[in-house]
Amino acid sequence: MANGYIGFRGNFEEGCNDGKVSVGGTYLNGFYESEKILYGESAYGFPDRGQTLLNIIDSKAIKLFIDQCQVDLFEVQIDDYNRELDMEKGLLVRTVTAALESGKKVRVKSRRIVSMTRLNIAAIEYSVTPLNFSGTAKIESSIDGNVTNMVSEDDPRVGAGFSGRVLTPTHILSEGLKIGMSATTKHTKFTVHCRVEHVVNGECAVSSQKSDLDVLSVFEAQLNEGQTFTITKFIAYSDDRFISTESAEDLAEGELKKALESGFNVLLKEQAEFLKDFWYSAAVEIKGSELLNSAMKLNVFHLLQSVGRDGRTNIAAKGLTGEGYEGHYFWDTETYILPFFLHTDPSISRKLLEYRYNILPKARKRAREMAHGTGALYPWRTIDGDECSAYFPAGTAQYHINADVAFALKRYYLATCDDEFIREMGAEILAETARLWNDLGGYIPAKDGKFCINCVTGPDEYTALVNNNFYTNLMASENLIFAAEIIEKLKEQEPNSYKKLAEKINLSDNEPSEWRKAGENIYLPYDEKLGVNLQDDTFLSKKPWDFANTPKENFPLLIHYHPLVIYRHQVCKQADTVLAEFLCSSKFTKEQKKRDYNFYEPLTTHDSSLSAAIFGIIACEIGNSDDAFKHFMHTALTDCNDMHRNTGDGIHAASMAGSWMCVVNGFAGMRTDSGKLIFNTILPKELDGYSFRIRYQGRLLEILVDGKGSQIKRLKGNILEITLNGKDIAI
Ligand code: BGC
Repeated sequence: MANGYIGFRGNFEEGCNDGKVSVGGTYLNGFYESEKILYGESAYGFPDRGQTLLNIIDSKAIKLFIDQCQVDLFEVQIDDYNRELDMEKGLLVRTVTAALESGKKVRVKSRRIVSMTRLNIAAIEYSVTPLNFSGTAKIESSIDGNVTNMVSEDDPRVGAGFSGRVLTPTHILSEGLKIGMSATTKHTKFTVHCRVEHVVNGECAVSSQKSDLDVLSVFEAQLNEGQTFTITKFIAYSDDRFISTESAEDLAEGELKKALESGFNVLLKEQAEFLKDFWYSAAVEIKGSELLNSAMKLNVFHLLQSVGRDGRTNIAAKGLTGEGYEGHYFWDTETYILPFFLHTDPSISRKLLEYRYNILPKARKRAREMAHGTGALYPWRTIDGDECSAYFPAGTAQYHINADVAFALKRYYLATCDDEFIREMGAEILAETARLWNDLGGYIPAKDGKFCINCVTGPDEYTALVNNNFYTNLMASENLIFAAEIIEKLKEQEPNSYKKLAEKINLSDNEPSEWRKAGENIYLPYDEKLGVNLQDDTFLSKKPWDFANTPKENFPLLIHYHPLVIYRHQVCKQADTVLAEFLCSSKFTKEQKKRDYNFYEPLTTHDSSLSAAIFGIIACEIGNSDDAFKHFMHTALTDCNDMHRNTGDGIHAASMAGSWMCVVNGFAGMRTDSGKLIFNTILPKELDGYSFRIRYQGRLLEILVDGKGSQIKRLKGNILEITLNGKDIAI
C-alpha cells in the first residue's frame, strides 16, 4: 500500500520472520541516505556519492499474545487465511484463524490503508476475537527503529546498499496511547518523524514502553469467547527534506490529530472517493481473461500508488514497494510511466516534468563535469538530481535520458496544449537539453558530413559505448528540432517570456537554427543489404550470440557473463531501435518496422522487463498477433506471476505501465506522434475484447473493442477529429 509518499510493503503486522519468508519495508518517496561510492579504480567525473532509498522506522508492527503465548503467524497453525487487496477502496484486508498449541483458536483481522488524500497518513485497524475460549489478549503496537536495508553484492538490480542500521533515533515519545519516534540519517542529515496514536474499542489496560530502538503501546484485555477487541493505529510520517525539522514535526503532529478527529471510517470514505475518480478515467478492462483483467488493474493501481505528485519526487523503478535499484528514478518515468498519467490524469504527468525542471541546475552542473561548456545533462539514475550511476557504460553513457525527458515534454504539450508550462519551465528544459546534443555531436566527413553522436549507450544495455546509436540519434534529433520550434514560437508569440528566458540562460538568437540544422542532419545507421535500421555503427560487425548453446539458467545474461563478453556479441537486453520506431511511429513504414522487428526480436533476451511491451506493440502493428499476445501476457503478469523472479525487490513499474501501453498502443494501436490521434485496432484471438479510457486535449474518450468491432465514445469535451482504422472521423 502506498500513496506516492508513504510506502508500506505487504508484510504482516506480526512480523516477517526476520526476512526469511518475507521482506519487511517502509519507505518515504525519495527519503535517502547517501554514501561514498568505493571504486577499485576511480576516474575523473565518476559520481562521488550514491543515494539509497532507506527502509525507515516501521510503524506497521503489531504483536499479539494470547494468555502469554505469542501468535507468530510463521509458527502457529493456520486454520483459515484470506488476504484481499481492494483496489476500489484502497484497502488491504487480512483475516486469519490461528490455532495455538493449547488448542485455543483466535481470529485476527487487520484492515490497512495508506491514505491517498492525506499524504502523511496511514492507519491499521486490528481486531482480535477468541473463538473457543475466554482469556487475555495482549497487543503490543510499536514503532520499530531497528530497521536495515536489503543487501545484495552480486545482483546489480538490487544495489550494494548499506550494511547495518542507518537511521539513528533522536527522539522517542511514549505516552500510553500515543507513541512517536524521530530518526536522522548520518550524511544527508534528513530526519523522519513518525507519530502514532491508538483508538481502542473495548475495555483494556494501556501502558507504553520504550527502549533505544523501539517504542510500544501495550493493550491488555480480558476477553470472553466470541468477543472482539479492536485497536486502530493512526500513523503519521513526515520528513524535513523540503521544510524545517520543526515544521515537519508539526506537520506529523497536526495531520495525526486531524486523522484522529476524522476517524477510520472517514479515511476509508475519502479513499474510496479518490479512487472512484481515478478509476473513472484509468479504467481498463480485458474481457475473456479474469487473470489478465485483474493483473491490468493491479498494474495501474500500483502506478498510482507509487507516483510522487509534488514536483519534487518522482516514481522509482520499483515504485514504493521495495529496495531494488536503490529507489532510483530512471528514464522509466518519461518513456513508460508518464504516458499513462498523461492520458488518465495529466496533472500528475505535469508534476513529473516539474521534477525534471527542479533538478535542472544539477543537470547543468553534471554537463560541466562531463566537459560540456553548455547545456544540461540529466542523470541516468538519481533521487535528488545528482548522477548516482557508478558503472558508466550502462549509466552516465545513456545520454538518451536527455532526449527522453524532452520527448515526454513534447508528448505532454501535444496532449494538453499547456502553454503556461512551456513558458515557465518546458522551454528552458528543451533549450538546455538541445544545447547538450549540439555540443556533444558533430558533422563528420566520413559519414557524409552528417551530424553524429559518438560513444554513448542506447537503451539496450547489452551494447555499450557505441557510435551513432539509432535510438539516441533519432531521439536527439527530435529533441533538437522540437526545442528550436518551441523557442522560435516563444520568441514570436511571447517576446517577454522569451526575453526573460534568453537572459536567464544566455541564449543567443542563432542557437535554435543551429539545433534545427543538427536535428535535420542527424545520421541514422542503415544497412542497404538487409534493409534494416542498425542499432549502431558496429552492430553488424559483431558475432550473433549463441542462443542455442546458452542454458536457460544463464539468463539474465547480466548476472552470468562479464559485460565485455556480452558487448562483443549481437545480443540485446531490450528494445532499442524498435522502441525508437514506436515512439516516432509516423517516420517509418510498416514494412521497415516489420524487417526491424524480425531482425532484432531473435537477438533480444528481454532480460530487462522494459522490453517485452515494446516488441508487443510493434508486433500488433506488423500483424504478428501471436507474438503480440505473448509479449502482452509476459508484461501484464511480470509481477503477478513474478516472471523475472525478483518481485521481492519490488514491482517493475515501467513494465506495469508497459502493460497499459500494450493495450492502448498495441491492441488499440494508439499513436499521437504525428499530432493527430490515431487508432488501429486489433483483437487478439485469445481475448473477447478490451476497453479503456484516455484523456486527450481536454477530451475524455472511451475505446471499446470486441468481436463486433471498434467503438470510440466521447465522454467529455468538444468534438475531435481522429483516425480510426484508416478512416478520418469526427467524434
Ligand atoms: C534497464 C533500464 C532501466 C532499469 C530500471 C534496467 O534493467 O535496462 O533500461 O531503466 O532497469 O528499471
